[in-house]
Amino acid sequence: MSEYDFDLFVIGVGSGGVRAARMSAAYGARVATAEDKFMGGTCVNVGCVPKKLLVYASHYSEDFENAQGFGWGKAEPDFDWATLIANKDKEILRLNGIYKGLLDNAGVTHFEGRARIQDAHHIVVRDRVISTEKTLIATGGWPVVPHFPGNEHVITSNEAFHLTSMPARVLVVGGGYIAVEFAGIFAGLGAESHLSYRGPMFLRGFDDDVRTTVAEELPKKGIHLHFNSNVKSIDKQADGSLLVHFADGTTLETDCVLYATGREPAVQDLGLEHVDVHCRDNGAIIVDHEFRTSVPNIFALGDVTDRIQLTPVAIAEAMAFARTQFLQQPTEMDYEGIATAVFCQPNIGTVGLTEHQARDRYKAVDIYRSTFRALKHTLSGSDEKTMMKLVVDRETDRVVGVHMVGAEAGEIIQGIAIALKAGATKATFDATIGIHPTSAEEFVTMREPV
Ligand code: FAD
Ligand code: NDP
Repeated sequence: MSEYDFDLFVIGVGSGGVRAARMSAAYGARVATAEDKFMGGTCVNVGCVPKKLLVYASHYSEDFENAQGFGWGKAEPDFDWATLIANKDKEILRLNGIYKGLLDNAGVTHFEGRARIQDAHHIVVRDRVISTEKTLIATGGWPVVPHFPGNEHVITSNEAFHLTSMPARVLVVGGGYIAVEFAGIFAGLGAESHLSYRGPMFLRGFDDDVRTTVAEELPKKGIHLHFNSNVKSIDKQADGSLLVHFADGTTLETDCVLYATGREPAVQDLGLEHVDVHCRDNGAIIVDHEFRTSVPNIFALGDVTDRIQLTPVAIAEAMAFARTQFLQQPTEMDYEGIATAVFCQPNIGTVGLTEHQARDRYKAVDIYRSTFRALKHTLSGSDEKTMMKLVVDRETDRVVGVHMVGAEAGEIIQGIAIALKAGATKATFDATIGIHPTSAEEFVTMREPV
């Protein structure tokens, strides 16, 4: 019997924390958790799940419009934000209960409240001191808003999910995942939607063809894109609206400014100063291949380590952690070929290397690309384009990157990611018979490199 109350104390019950706690308990460890806000963490409460529900909601306006080409009469149903938010909240409450149940059923002891590290083997939650052999920090991240005059008037994605009414006009600042997704949500729900990005082209890190295709498609959905655009200050006007001043001297009047300018690791008030856990300049906890920090019995994973901020990554890291520590099966996380989707409209789906990355890594690279109008839009009247791209290492014929902008790109790329993980070559793609008529069949019928 260990001299400690628990074998493992997990701080933060989000995507990574829940999985690590459950699996470690299943492997025989005595596990405790602490959570100070919401069961299930960011993904369930203010991330992936509510975001995707809002994306679904926002798509209907386009669907009503498109239906007319198929013979349906013009429909302009009312949209009620309060109903959407209430239904979303009900679903999240249900998920909160499921997460609590998962921990209870796994025999995990849960403490409600903020956890602080007192020393290498003691955690404090609401004045209660708990001893533990190992600690796992899975505290996630928090949105960052830069300092400038008037930044107290802006909201982040956290607040966007709980607005009491839908703003008629919205400015989203940023050019990453959250910015393009929310600009699309608000545009689809009927708001005048603007996106301001500081550089010449948003979605840095994605394949250039993906970036330019999305930049062409979003304005078709009514989103006003402002590139090389920097907010200088924001004034609140007498009628409650916001006047945004840009560095180039222009202004924009809006009702809501949403900052989506990245997230920082949640390490504040965690008690890290009581132990010698090393962090990067932005607060990200530094870990080795076993998620071990500079203190041998303290571990960290998920967004708080600021590597790849995605739920399936935090979950996979948690599985590897639990197996290594409590099943005596050393398991290393494989960060290669992680597929991802951005739920802007149309979606981005991507796996593997961008064209640039492939050209840096391989001697010769072949690119196969197709841009087309999906069959549905021959009648819908929409001029939405779908873009698909394969990046192939010429020497081995291996497909090393696949990128798509188009309807259900996330769903399609998930399957393609399996093929890439299995080492598929271009010849494998060519030998695969397509499913007709689909958009996805284009991936197995592109014959000539561009
Ligand atoms: P989290 O899920 O953030 O969990 C950390 C938990 O720790 C939180 O519940 C927090 O309250 C708690 N906590 C923090 N400090 C303490 C403390 N001292 N004591 C007790 N508890 C504490 N990823 C995807 O894969 N797909 C998506 O579509 C997607 N959409 C997103 C949309 C938005 C708007 C956002 C913000 C994120 C999105 N993500 C998405 C990212 C995803 O949500 C995160 O990568 C994931 O939640 C990280 O999991 P985690 O376990 O590291 O942290
Ligand atoms: P990202 O890191 O994706 O994007 C941040 C954006 O803000 C970038 O365009 C960046 O520009 C810009 N930016 C940063 N600092 C400033 C500043 N001071 N002033 C103006 N612009 C600035 O962060 P997000 O907040 O969008 O999302 C956080 C993470 O959450 C994502 O990286 C992703 O991993 C995860 N997520 C995943 C989703 C999914 O899987 N679908 C959905 C939502 C979030 P620049 O590029 O020039 O640095």
